Amino acid sequence: LDGHVVGRVITEVEVHHERAIRRHLAGASDFAGRLRGHTVHAAQRRGKYLWLVLDGEQALLGHLGMSGQLRVQPEGAPDETHLRVRLRFADHGPELRFVDQRTFGGLTVTELVDDVPEPIAHIARDPLDPLFDPAAVVSAIRRRRSAVKRALLDQSLVSGVGNIYADEALWRAGLHGGWPTDALPVAKGRALLAAAGEVMTEALAAGGTSFDALYVNINGQSGYFDRSLNVYGQAGRPCNRCGATILREPFMNRSSYSCPRCQPAHLMGLASLRRTGAAASTS
Ligand SMILES: [Zn+2]
Repeated sequence: LDGHVVGRVITEVEVHHERAIRRHLAGASDFAGRLRGHTVHAAQRRGKYLWLVLDGEQALLGHLGMSGQLRVQPEGAPDETHLRVRLRFADHGPELRFVDQRTFGGLTVTELVDDVPEPIAHIARDPLDPLFDPAAVVSAIRRRRSAVKRALLDQSLVSGVGNIYADEALWRAGLHGGWPTDALPVAKGRALLAAAGEVMTEALAAGGTSFDALYVNINGQSGYFDRSLNVYGQAGRPCNRCGATILREPFMNRSSYSCPRCQPAHLMGLASLRRTGAAASTS
């Protein structure tokens, strides 16, 4: 979006489905009025939210939900079946369209508070944010009475890491998600956050992880990071690092995938870490 809408002036706003702007409580005409005539200054994101910075400390905030898409399309291109909102620009260049089959996602115009849209001020920075502070995040994780994977998915601690990328990051860091957070060594915590950042960077380069044709870029193309997954969805297959059989365990109505050898459960892990620690302290 940064390369396609920044610097352009919004001239027309069409809301085709009220549900797509249900978080904008003042309704469609207010929504359109707050956008019309305004210049887009930046495209930013935090966690699962993204926003366009507008004049006057305002932002167009969006969440894609399960099936939302922001598409950049030439004026006059046929409307998508599930077109919900359309923005036209003063230069008559490509339109910005919000398309959402299930309409769990949505758009709203909101105030910016310290450069972050007010409704998402409680969401923590993600590992790719230039101001992400790994040391502070590891401390916050260790203070939680929780398990490491739950903490990694808690958006008030760190954002942008969903179930798939959490499993991949835990595998890279050699850590089982069931570890108690207060037993997480600082160095392991730092390794985990670094791994989460790596996974996200690689996934972005691949265009995302698409198990679903609805996850697309602004041109409607799917990503292919699913071909690079080491543990997620790999139950029964050999671990790419050690050859042990990848396990699937139930986790919060979903699944967790891990290698039983590379990611030992807590007690075994603690013992091996103590050995490592002892070796390190005598060397
Ligand atoms: Zn392994």
